[in-house]
Amino acid sequence: MSIDKVLVVGSGQMGRGIAQVCAQCGMEVILTDVDPQALATAKETVAWSVGKLIQKGKLVEDLESVVGRIRTTTDLSDAAQVDVAIEAVFEDRELKQHIFKKLDELSGPDALLASNTSAIPITELAAATQRPERVVGIHFFNPVPMMEAVEVIKGLCTSDGHMERAMDFVRRLQKEPIRVESDVPGFLLNRINLVSYVEAIRLLEAGIGTVEDIDRGVRLAFGRKMGPFETGDMVGLDVSFGALTAIYEETKDARYYPPQLLRRKVRAGLLGRKSGRGWYDYPRD
Ligand code: NAD
Repeated sequence: MSIDKVLVVGSGQMGRGIAQVCAQCGMEVILTDVDPQALATAKETVAWSVGKLIQKGKLVEDLESVVGRIRTTTDLSDAAQVDVAIEAVFEDRELKQHIFKKLDELSGPDALLASNTSAIPITELAAATQRPERVVGIHFFNPVPMMEAVEVIKGLCTSDGHMERAMDFVRRLQKEPIRVESDVPGFLLNRINLVSYVEAIRLLEAGIGTVEDIDRGVRLAFGRKMGPFETGDMVGLDVSFGALTAIYEETKDARYYPPQLLRRKVRAGLLGRKSGRGWYDYPRD
């Protein structure tokens, strides 16, 4: 069964990026959020990003056609018409379970239900629905239009058929699906990435190195495009904190215990690029 109509729930950093790549690949998209301002920002950001890709010759279609495929609404009941619904709201277990219950009630029986969660087990989200076999994890990386890897995660009850549909959907978005056979918290790639982020913060806390030196060293020594603090600011300190907390709660593995400095920055609202300050400062102009 082909996927032509997509619902994206949550129009923040990730949701708007997911909406954009779906529209770029010819799918009709309904982008929904409880916050009308977030939807307005998402529209502007997507238009800017698509415009850049056209300018660079990476997209041949005109801006209006791509952006015209995305309809924004605060009404979740539009879920009735879609082939796949992708949830990308805050990293909050109860909120996500509430959304999955709603999506299950509202969507047609054949719709695939997916979460972009960074760390919450898919099985727990699926448990909020009557048809857990159609619930999968489709975990995009930030910034969505640029990053090629997408984890496709099997929950305990996800059927092989729905898993294959999700893998095909990711290929249609011209991305590489990375199959994750079990929904262990953090899945595959965040398990690896978050350990190095935590270690970098602990080295900073101990005064062993500075933010700038650690980032520069990691870029130059390991061939990464960004250091752990640069990535942390882009992702959002609250998002990483949420992911670490979810993994730690589930595993009690001390490697994932959120460091004190990260916790304090999140409490102070220093969330990274989106708040203007995190590990670095981002002047508004
Ligand atoms: P964000 O804070 O930028 O956006 C979340 C959006 O969800 C907000 O616009 C908010 O208004 C909306 N929202 C909240 N409650 C809602 C509801 N009931 N219905 C509809 N919309 C609602 O968050 P984000 O960074 O886009 O992260 C979203 C999800 O993606 C999280 O689960 C996060 O862990 C995951 N994720 C984030 C990154 C990243 O780098 N930021 C990477 C991979 C996965």
